Amino acid sequence: MIIRRKTFSSKIGQIYVGSEHPIVVQSMTNTDTEDALGTALQVADLARAGSEVVRITVNTLAAGAKVREISQRLADMGVNVPLVGDFHFNGHKILAENPDCAKYLAKYRINPGNVGKGAKRDEQFAYMINTAREYDKPVRIGVNWGSLDQELLATMLDSNASLALPLSLEAVMRKALVESALQSAEKALELGLPENRILLSCKVSHVQDLLLVYRDLASRCNYPLHLGLTEAGMGSKGIVASTAALSLILNEGIGDTIRVSLTPKPGESRINEVIVAQEILQSLGLRSFVPTVTSCPGCGRTTSDYFQKLADKIQNYLREQMPLWKQQYPGVEEMKVAVMGCVVNGPGESKLANIGISLPGKDESPVAPVFIDGQKNVTLKGDLIAEEFQVIVENYVKNKYSQ
Ligand code: SF4
Repeated sequence: MIIRRKTFSSKIGQIYVGSEHPIVVQSMTNTDTEDALGTALQVADLARAGSEVVRITVNTLAAGAKVREISQRLADMGVNVPLVGDFHFNGHKILAENPDCAKYLAKYRINPGNVGKGAKRDEQFAYMINTAREYDKPVRIGVNWGSLDQELLATMLDSNASLALPLSLEAVMRKALVESALQSAEKALELGLPENRILLSCKVSHVQDLLLVYRDLASRCNYPLHLGLTEAGMGSKGIVASTAALSLILNEGIGDTIRVSLTPKPGESRINEVIVAQEILQSLGLRSFVPTVTSCPGCGRTTSDYFQKLADKIQNYLREQMPLWKQQYPGVEEMKVAVMGCVVNGPGESKLANIGISLPGKDESPVAPVFIDGQKNVTLKGDLIAEEFQVIVENYVKNKYSQ
């Protein structure tokens, strides 16, 4: 069992983060925030897929001016998800000129490396923190490898150079990331922001760096931590790197919210980052979002791709039902379904699941036994096995999980 690190409990809109609260799944839009309709539609897609908090970039005064409209459009669509504003360079100006932006956002993300330079830096940071205080909002101090505070880094590199055994540049950068986050949190506290309204993140793009940075950060503070491998990449590379990094650190009990930063392929849905984040948490046994489908990889004993299609169909069907089912059938997300390709492991896995089907392999008789709660229930045959199995799953859900 994973024992989670103790943190303050924070609140983003209606969602609690940290302490004993479930690890929260976040995502971020890639629409132009000035396009309020397009942004609201993408936020709705992400929220319906299971994103519990959605971040939007607030990069211009015009984008800031659209936050209220985005929020209202979401309310009109029946989507109630906290919106986080991602601020860089001009966040102080945007918040100053758009009180509704400050009000309708549920959290502000501030990157200490992109707040300003010299004396202006403290002034602009203070303005954003004071706005968060005024509107009762939490702040994520989000440091990023690619936009590290250069003044702090230069100071730390100078100190390092004077050591008898200087650290590597990478090691100093990791230390600077953590220092930047902690020093900014300290300044926010001095400005009067309560400790339970501060969350931290230190995003890097390599797995080992993430482990070292978050272990250090977690040992030095009690703020809830947001995890993510930044610029994880595209396709399987991004999924594998994010899964490796987040799983290893989550398994140490570190992390209170996560985002999987995948680069979508052209035309690919943005919701994949939400599905991957959920699957990471579910695979680690930290949360359940959708019923688990166990399916074998198939081999020379399978006669066709029929069982692959059935496994895919059932998996999609279960995910599509979840927005409704999680209201109607509490606990259904814990259900286990097995779809197996032949008699070798089929009946065994099927008996271990709530519902399992074992399709006929090569040279086996063309029948598909279905097991419910460990007992053989019915044997399906013919051309409608998929449809009949789906009905059996639906009836099982209604009978077992109705309140
Ligand atoms: S259950 Fe049967 S079809 Fe599936 S991988 Fe094992 S031997 Fe192959």
